[in-house]
Amino acid sequence: MRLVLLGAPGAGKGTQAEILSRELNIPTISTGNILRAAMKAGTEVGLKAKSYVESGKLVPDEVIIGIIRERLAEPDCVNGYILDGVPRTIPQAQTMEDMGIGVDCALSIEISDEEIIHRMSGRRTCKECSQTFHIENNPPKVEGICDACGGELTIRADDAPETVRARLETYHRETEPLKDFYAQRGKLRSVDNQPTISDTTAAIRKTLGL
Ligand code: AMP
Repeated sequence: MRLVLLGAPGAGKGTQAEILSRELNIPTISTGNILRAAMKAGTEVGLKAKSYVESGKLVPDEVIIGIIRERLAEPDCVNGYILDGVPRTIPQAQTMEDMGIGVDCALSIEISDEEIIHRMSGRRTCKECSQTFHIENNPPKVEGICDACGGELTIRADDAPETVRARLETYHRETEPLKDFYAQRGKLRSVDNQPTISDTTAAIRKTLGL
């Protein structure tokens, strides 16, 4: 299964990708997580990406294509992958297609902007392993501590309300047109966001025929 997850920032792509990864035994590739790790490590890619990520803008396509080219060449991707947050623009999708990166299905998680803004204000992200929680919908067992690795939970700098609004604008302008791109190729499936994580997972399973 080679799956692309589409949806606004905060739609739950990362959370659902994690669940599907475990179930299907294929890796999730999140360019957001890769960029945050690079920024933390202060690599060349991290330095290039920092100002874009922190202001809610998209990192230039050539940086993203370089990351994806390297990551998909790793052996764990041979049986499939889940792409979370990439492609994010038509040029990225077109370049990936031209490079022969296969996509079986693009799954769009549909959710309103108002719900996103409410949601992002409660999101907490592990500093160490990037796992996400929500203070109401998906709280960690111990407040402020990651269930998975014991790392400290923090509010991502780009989850601040003004930045979330900028990211939503970017999403509607640059990323939403990808729905047409994949629909034209007969690969688009959509699910409506559900009240709970497990209900959304069930809707995705049904749509994907899992
Ligand atoms: P995410 O964790 O997917 O919400 O990504 C966080 C930020 O990383 C985004 O707001 C962008 O600045 C950057 N980013 C992640 N993936 C991409 C991509 N495919 N293209 C451009 N920028 C990206």
